[in-house]
Amino acid sequence: MKAAVVPRYGGPEVLEFVEDQPEPVPGPDEVVLHVHAASVNHLDLAVRQGIPTLKLSLPHILGADVSGEVARLGSDVTGLEPGDRVVANPGLSCGHCEFCAAGEDSLCPEYRILGEHVPGTYAEYVAVPARNLLPIPVDMDWKTAAAAPLVFMTAWRLLVTRAAIRPGEDVLILGAGSGVSTAAIQIAKLAGCTVYTTSSSEAKLKRAKEIGADVVINYREISWSKAVWELTGKRGVDVVLDHVGEATFKDSVRSLCKGGRLVVPGATTGPLPQLDLRYLFWRQLSILGSTMANRREFEEVMKLVFMGRLKPVVDRVFPLQEAREAHAYLEKAEQFGKVVLSVP
Ligand SMILES: [Zn+2]
Repeated sequence: MKAAVVPRYGGPEVLEFVEDQPEPVPGPDEVVLHVHAASVNHLDLAVRQGIPTLKLSLPHILGADVSGEVARLGSDVTGLEPGDRVVANPGLSCGHCEFCAAGEDSLCPEYRILGEHVPGTYAEYVAVPARNLLPIPVDMDWKTAAAAPLVFMTAWRLLVTRAAIRPGEDVLILGAGSGVSTAAIQIAKLAGCTVYTTSSSEAKLKRAKEIGADVVINYREISWSKAVWELTGKRGVDVVLDHVGEATFKDSVRSLCKGGRLVVPGATTGPLPQLDLRYLFWRQLSILGSTMANRREFEEVMKLVFMGRLKPVVDRVFPLQEAREAHAYLEKAEQFGKVVLSVP
């Protein structure tokens, strides 16, 4: 089959388009999907670059997000037919540990992600557990569907479950243009919050307003934490979503109101920020980590996506043959929303 593979770790240039990759065979509980679209996540860039603790057999196929048609069914699969149009929850869990039993899939000690730990979706075919699939509405196109799962499930768990946002709260989403941010802005807005967001690009801030941001801050013109402080009447915001990491963490902490919550799904600029503990205890702050989501959260947020209440933002579509260009483009961070690969 056709696939974009990583034969060795490195920059976007290592990605190679091949036509002779062996097709996956479904396990008893799995289905093989005929992939129509895959979306690119920051996770893919990290895996391509090489994660020291992650031992993969190369060449590896990246890709967590997929939309496609059911092509082949494992022997134990029921309730699905070849040709069914579906998206997949990219989270893979054991299903029987204490965390899985409690419905907390992403806490499973064996939690893995499609395309990170197992062959992913930058290919004509991919094998996925049948229980991870959801049917997509007839009026939803492949690229929109493939743009949704990872970023919407991540943003939903971060804001709704971990930060427990409530109507009327002030929520600051850093970096308006990322896939998670474009999901988070819409979720916070839908929850009745006042949504603040930041960017160094006026064009991105304009787009952020169109999808629901109430207050936009261009940090080229003014320090964003200072702006937040002024705009909230020196109160601070209730919640900050910071996926940037080292470069912004200190200012994120300073931007919180008393009792505020900082939620962290990643650390793009580095994992070891400084934390002034005096802010933490005196303002009684909470710092909450989060990764991916459980099955219930995935289904809750996808239902709203399918209803059109939340809309995946697709910035640009590349053919699978140009996965290299798609990665180089995402690394420049000029996008607003998701970069998608269309699969022939
Ligand atoms: Zn488990």
